[in-house]
Amino acid sequence: MSTNHIIDLYSDTQTRPSAGMRKAMADAEVGDEQRGEDPSTNLLQERVADLLGKEAALFLPSGTMCNQIAMLVHCRQGDEIIGAEVTHLFTSEAGGASALAGAQTWPIRCERGIFTGADVTAAVRAPGRHNPISRVVVIEQTVNRGGGAIWSVDEIADVAKATHQHGLILHMDGARLMNAAVSSGIPAKDMTAHVDTAWTDLSKGLGCPVGGVLVGSRAFIDEAWRWKHRLGGALRQSGILAAAGLYALDHNIQELAKDHENAVALGEAVAAVEGLKLFSPRIESNMVFFESTLPEISSRQIFETLLARGVRMGMTYGNMIRAVTHLDVSRDDITRAGEILGQVVADLKAGLRKAS
Ligand SMILES: *Cc1c(COP(=O)(O)O)cnc(C)c1O
Repeated sequence: MSTNHIIDLYSDTQTRPSAGMRKAMADAEVGDEQRGEDPSTNLLQERVADLLGKEAALFLPSGTMCNQIAMLVHCRQGDEIIGAEVTHLFTSEAGGASALAGAQTWPIRCERGIFTGADVTAAVRAPGRHNPISRVVVIEQTVNRGGGAIWSVDEIADVAKATHQHGLILHMDGARLMNAAVSSGIPAKDMTAHVDTAWTDLSKGLGCPVGGVLVGSRAFIDEAWRWKHRLGGALRQSGILAAAGLYALDHNIQELAKDHENAVALGEAVAAVEGLKLFSPRIESNMVFFESTLPEISSRQIFETLLARGVRMGMTYGNMIRAVTHLDVSRDDITRAGEILGQVVADLKAGLRKAS
C-alpha cells in the first residue's frame, strides 16, 4: 500500500464492493422482483425481518426511500412528524416528508439527537380543529448528526411508551443500526423491539453498493409495497443487489467492530492535538466529530488543508469536522490520518506566527 493514497474518511458510503461481494453478486440467483419471484431478494427480506424481529421486510434502493415510504404509509396530508432537529429525515431528504407525504415536521432540540418520552409528550399536539395531527415519532440509530450517538434500549423504551400512550407510531431510521448493535453488544432486535417500523442501510458500513431494508408488520409492508411500486422502486432482477446484502450480513457485520476501534483511535489522536476539541469525549460508533478552538484557525481551514494533504473528511452540523471510519480504511490509514492532522494544525499555527 502506498503512503500517498487518499485516506477517505468522508463517509461510510465510500466503501466499494469487495471482490467476495462482487463474486456473490455475479453468482446470484435471480427472478422478477415485482412478481415476488426473485429468490435472493426474498431471502434477504426474510433474513432482515428475522434480524430485526419483525413480521416482514421490503428491499428498497436506498435508505432515503425507506424513510419516505414509511412516512407515506404512516401519514396523511397535514399530519405532523416529531423527531430530533438533527434527524436525517428532516435535514437531508430534500423536504421529502412534506413534498411526498404532505406531512410537516416538529423538531425537538436535544443533545446528540437523543430525546425522552417527556419531550414527546410535550411535542404532541392537543386535539382540536386548528391543530395538525401528531402522527409519527422518528428516532435515529445511530444519530448521524449526533456524532454517531447510540440510543440505549431504555431510552428507546421510554420514548416508545410515550409515543404509544398518545396513539402515535414509532419509526426508527436505522441507517447505522448495525453499528449500534455491534458497538454496544446488544442484538439489533432488542433495539427495534419497541418501535413499530424500522430499516437498516446496506450501503453504509455494511459495504454494499446499493440498498436498504424496511421492516414492520405484514400489513405495513403490504402498503409499503404499493408505494414502492407507485414510485417506480419495484425492480426486476434485484437479486444481483440483494446478493450483496446477503454477503454483507454474513461477512461485514462483525467487521464493524474494527471501524469502532479505529474511530476510538482517531478520537485519541484528535484529543492529543492542542487546539482541537472533540464534540463528545466518548466515541460511540464509527464517527468522530471535532472542531478548532483556535481563535485564528477555523475548522474549515483544517478540513481544507487535510484534503490537500490526502485526508478527506467532511464538514457537518455546527461547522464541525466529521470523520467516518469504514471497511475501506485500515488501522494504518487511521494512524497516518492522525499524524497528518497533528502536522496540519502545527503548520497552520506556524504560518500564523510567521505572518504576525
Ligand atoms: C445515509 C442516511 C440516510 C439515507 O440513506 P441513503 O441510503 O443514503 O438514502 C438516512 N438516515 C441517516 C441517519 C443516514 O445517515
